[in-house]
Amino acid sequence: METAEGIARSGRVTVFRSGIWKPRTRPNSFEGVGEKGLAWLQRVKKEFGLLTTVEVANAEHVELALRYGIDILWIGARTTVNPFSVQEIADALKGRDVPVMVKNPLHPDLQLWLGALERIHHAGIRRLIAVHRGFYSPSSAQYRNAPLWEIPIELKTLQPELPLVCDPSHICGRTDLLQQVAQKALDLNMDGLMIESHIHPGQALSDARQQVTPVQLTELLGKLIVREASSDDVAFANQLQLLRGMIDGIDEDLLNILQKRMEVIEKIGEYKRDNHVTIFQLERWQEILRTRTASGLLKGMSSDFIEKICVLLHKESIRRQTEVMNTATEKKKP
Ligand code: PEP
Ligand code: MN
Repeated sequence: METAEGIARSGRVTVFRSGIWKPRTRPNSFEGVGEKGLAWLQRVKKEFGLLTTVEVANAEHVELALRYGIDILWIGARTTVNPFSVQEIADALKGRDVPVMVKNPLHPDLQLWLGALERIHHAGIRRLIAVHRGFYSPSSAQYRNAPLWEIPIELKTLQPELPLVCDPSHICGRTDLLQQVAQKALDLNMDGLMIESHIHPGQALSDARQQVTPVQLTELLGKLIVREASSDDVAFANQLQLLRGMIDGIDEDLLNILQKRMEVIEKIGEYKRDNHVTIFQLERWQEILRTRTASGLLKGMSSDFIEKICVLLHKESIRRQTEVMNTATEKKKP
């Protein structure tokens, strides 16, 4: 109730989200308070005037949430991956009129996300909202879930009328990145944000590291810049923004891949050093040039372009490996 009060006081939040039934990776973690929490949400609505939303993962959750007058339902990432569960929820929703938010599935599969939205739509639900919460990636670097912005952008391109909300909390998994991810979502024309908040983040029973206090939340929301489309032709500006967003996402992926390549390069450097082998081997370099340009040609890129990229990569790799060799020399000094 205290968290809800703080959030309501911000004056910038319209919906109060709450996990009453929590899907947890391991058993014996806190799995939510269950039905009694629905009565608390009724109080939140009555006392603070916030709309309420809960995660539903099966037909019983839907029945209970609607019985307690919850305003919006949401389907979590772990449920979106499972068409049986989504269909069960869709069947329970037939003939009901309630907005439903569908989070993206855990892994980057747009078809699965679209499929879940379709199942709910076929049940007669017309107020649908997609929620972008990032995607599992074996190396999401600084994020808990890699944003892969190109996927929600593609969804928006296919379904321009579908409202799209971003959940920076589950993308970041930590609080220091929330502001920039929330801003990025707005810059990509997303329609709203879902952010987790707790009066004492350290004591939160789930995802403690990604919670901000209601005061921090208010600050974060206050700092967001809502940009207007600058061109007179709004459709043009929107399309340009979408495409640029795709480029931003792709460039980020490229950088992550380059970083991985450099890590392997350094390992090779250490291996060569420890086995007293030279850094540069002409045959290997010729093979790289030959195979990469051939593969690039198949993908419609000129051999001149690929060759330039290979030369740059090779130069940087040699520089890194030289550094690795030098480290060893220094170590050997008395
Ligand atoms: C949540 O929103 O609390 C949640 C469990 O998120 P997700 O389904 O995105 O993992
Ligand atoms: Mn969570």
